[in-house]
Amino acid sequence: MTDAKNNSQRMEKIVSLCKRRGFIFQASEIYGGLNGVWDYGPLGVELKRNLKDYWWRVMVRERDDVVGIDGAILTHRAVLKASGHEDTFSDPMVDCRTCKARLRADQLPEKNNTKQCPNCGGKDLTEARPFNLMFSTQMGASAEPDAIAYLRPETAQSIFVQFKNVLDTARKKLPFGIAQIGKAFRNEINPRNYIFRSREFEQMELEYFCRPDQGNELLDYWLEERLKFYENIGIGRDRLHVLTVSDADRAFYSKGTFDIEYEFPFGVQELEGVAYRTDYDLTQHQTASGKPLDYFDEDTKARFIPHVIEPSAGVDRTVLALICEAYVEETVTDEKGKSETRIVMRFHPRVAPIKAGIFPLLKNQVALVEKAREVQALLRPHMNVFYDETGAIGRRYRRQDEAGTPFGITIDFETLGERDPALRDTVTLRHRDSMKQERVQIRDLPARLLNAIL
Ligand code: ATP
Repeated sequence: MTDAKNNSQRMEKIVSLCKRRGFIFQASEIYGGLNGVWDYGPLGVELKRNLKDYWWRVMVRERDDVVGIDGAILTHRAVLKASGHEDTFSDPMVDCRTCKARLRADQLPEKNNTKQCPNCGGKDLTEARPFNLMFSTQMGASAEPDAIAYLRPETAQSIFVQFKNVLDTARKKLPFGIAQIGKAFRNEINPRNYIFRSREFEQMELEYFCRPDQGNELLDYWLEERLKFYENIGIGRDRLHVLTVSDADRAFYSKGTFDIEYEFPFGVQELEGVAYRTDYDLTQHQTASGKPLDYFDEDTKARFIPHVIEPSAGVDRTVLALICEAYVEETVTDEKGKSETRIVMRFHPRVAPIKAGIFPLLKNQVALVEKAREVQALLRPHMNVFYDETGAIGRRYRRQDEAGTPFGITIDFETLGERDPALRDTVTLRHRDSMKQERVQIRDLPARLLNAIL
C-alpha cells in the first residue's frame, strides 16, 4: 500500500475512534452538521483541558515574569481596524462556475499547468479576490454600521489593548509577558483536515514584551521553550519540524518567525507560530486610540514602546497532534494464545483524559465493590478516574486502552486478604503500554500516580 493511502486510512481510523469513544463530534450533527465546527465529547474535553492546564502551568504559574488575562471574544471594530485585520486579514478566493464551489485560490490542484476545481475537476474559475476571514455581528438593537462588532480572529489583540492596564496593576518590569487561552473565530473558506482547520477554535498565546535589543535572543529562547513543551506532553522533537519563515512570507513588521510543525497523517503542518513582532501592534494601537502604550524604564529614564515575541499555539491542532501521536495498533497474544489487535492510545499520562480505571474483579461481590469505591474516593480529589464494573476484566482493560488511560487498578480477592493476609489492602496496578502488572498498597496509590501524571 502506498504511504498516502496508509496515511489516509490511519486518519480515517483516528476520526472513527474519536467519535466512537467520545473525543470529538461534529457540531450540530443531528441537523446535518455545521461545517468547520466541532464539539468535544467527555474524553475530548478532558484531554483538551489537561493540555490547556499544562500550558497555563508552565507559561504562567511557574514563571515570575508572566501574568494571564481572559479577554472578551466580542471585539470593538476599531481594535481590528488598527491591528490591520479589517483591511488585510483575508485569503484569496475563487468560485468554480461549474459546481459553484468556493475555493481558496492558493490551494487549488493543478493539471497541465491549469488550476482545477478539486470538487468537479472544472477549469472555469473566477479571478481570485480577497475574502475577509473575520466573523462580524451586530451589537444591540441598532442597525447602524457602528453597531458592528467582531468575534476575535486571535486572542492577541486584547493583550495589546490591555497592555497598560496590566502593566499598571501587575507592576511588572521588562521583559515580561501576558498570556491568554481562549476562543478565536475565522471564516475559513475551506475548513478541512478534521479539527486542524476549523472556523471556531482555541488559541494559547503569549505576548512577551522586551527591550528592542533583547528581541532576537528572546525569539530563540521562546522557540526552544516551546519545543520543550511539546516534548513534555509526549510529542518528541523528531516528530516536529521547525520552519524558518522566509522574508517573503513573513509579515512586513516581523523581524523573524518560526513555525513549529508536526507530521500529521495528512502532511507536515503548522502547530504554532513563534514570531518577533517588533513594536508593531502597540504602536498601531497607540496611534489609533491616542492613548499612550509606552513603557518608562526607571533605570535609563527612557520612554519607549516595547517590542514583543509571540508564541501562538492552537489548542485544537495540538489536541489533534496528541491524538495522532497516541494512536497505536498492535498485535498481542491473549491468555489463550490467540493473537488479536489491540488499539491503544499512548497519551502521555500528563494529558491522558482519564488517569486510572478502577475495577472490582466481580460486580456481584459486595466487599470488592465497596473496596473499589473506597479507592475511587481516595483518588478522585487528585485526578480524573473512571469506575467500571461491567464485563470481563480483559475487556475493561481494552476499553481503557482505547481511551488512553495509563493505569488500571483491579480490586481482587487478594485485596480483601482472603488468601494471604500480607496482601490485604493491595491492588493490581496495570500499566497501559507494557501491560505489566504489579501489586501496590492502596495507601501508596495517590503519591505513586501523582508522580506520573504531574
Ligand atoms: P494557517 O497558515 O494554518 O492558516 P496561521 O499562520 O494563519 O495558520 P496564526 O494566525 O499564526 O495561524 O495563528 C496561530 C495558531 O492558531 C496557528 O499556529 C494554529 O495553531 C491556530 N490556528 C489558526 N487558524 C486556525 C484554524 N482555522 N483552526 C484551528 N487552529 C487554527
